[in-house]
Amino acid sequence: MHKLIIIGSGPAGYTAAIYASRANLSPVLIDGPQMGGQLTTTTLIENFPGFPNGIDANLLVSNMRQQAEQLGTTFVNGIVVSADLSNDVKRITLDNGTVYEAQSVIIATGATAKYLGLSDEARFRGLGVSACATCDGFFYRGKKVAVVGGGDTACEEATYLAQMCKKVYMIVRKPFLRASKAMVKKVESTDNIEILYEHSTIGLTGDELRGLDGADLAFRKGSDEEKIVHIDIDGFFLAIGHTPNSALFSQYVDLDENGYIKTLGSGTATRTPGVFAAGDVADPRYRQAVTAAASGCKAAIDAEKYIASLQ
Ligand code: NDP
Repeated sequence: MHKLIIIGSGPAGYTAAIYASRANLSPVLIDGPQMGGQLTTTTLIENFPGFPNGIDANLLVSNMRQQAEQLGTTFVNGIVVSADLSNDVKRITLDNGTVYEAQSVIIATGATAKYLGLSDEARFRGLGVSACATCDGFFYRGKKVAVVGGGDTACEEATYLAQMCKKVYMIVRKPFLRASKAMVKKVESTDNIEILYEHSTIGLTGDELRGLDGADLAFRKGSDEEKIVHIDIDGFFLAIGHTPNSALFSQYVDLDENGYIKTLGSGTATRTPGVFAAGDVADPRYRQAVTAAASGCKAAIDAEKYIASLQ
């Protein structure tokens, strides 16, 4: 029987582990399918405080892991397949059949950015394809980029990128934007944003050495009017939504309409006592490494108080 199990190995999980270790909770952290989380899909991190020259994303998460390990976290390599959180003793079952029991659980399972499913997206991942403008936009200063999607995220990313890029295309599959009126007004009034309505991406061009140099789009795909157009771009940003990895826990926590875990007030507690949520799985809004780390810290402090209350 453990005091605390942390599920997820991104900045939220690792920061929770660092704080919980220092509070003598001897946490067990279960890595999940992608050790290090979403940060491992990007390259240089220039907006995590403390690194004036930026830091390699993989190095940043491996440093966090090392720090947690040195302070006393036990790491378990495995994927959670079921969770029974209904009682005082929480039971977590892994894909290899091992069952872990603990007094409290921090869910830090993150979110997964949606991709279109084109093989070119994988080919140019880190070479022009990104799902986070705030993380990677800076590398495209003065260049041409495209943002896919017509929701609030796409509009926010397009306006953010427009401040530093020469030109921003928005690739929108419908003849209208789904985003809020205010956001639509903002993108429509930004000179260097061009909205390509009724366009779908069918392929990306470039080579593995120099990276991405363009995208092939279909206008009114599948109709009699279908027309293929090519745009020259250096960056291709997906903004078609994220899927929070919350499904396993839906019985025990409240979810918003998009599947994000709802926490109580400004803390990290969920509606189930002893169950806390941190990082992107509970954050539809900010989704940054530093905000995830901060909420991991909060979850560890909240879990510590909960465990102390059981004595
Ligand atoms: P949304 O689900 O709102 O929008 C996704 C967009 O991606 C839609 O335009 C959708 O097109 C498009 N899309 C989805 N799949 C594909 C595909 N396969 N090919 C091409 N286009 C595709 O996601 P968001 O991330 O924008 O927003 C999620 C939630 O968070 C929303 O409720 C939003 O309002 C909220 N939000 C609020 C913000 C704020 O208040 N500041 C900022 C960001 C998000 P289609 O319209 O055709 O379905």
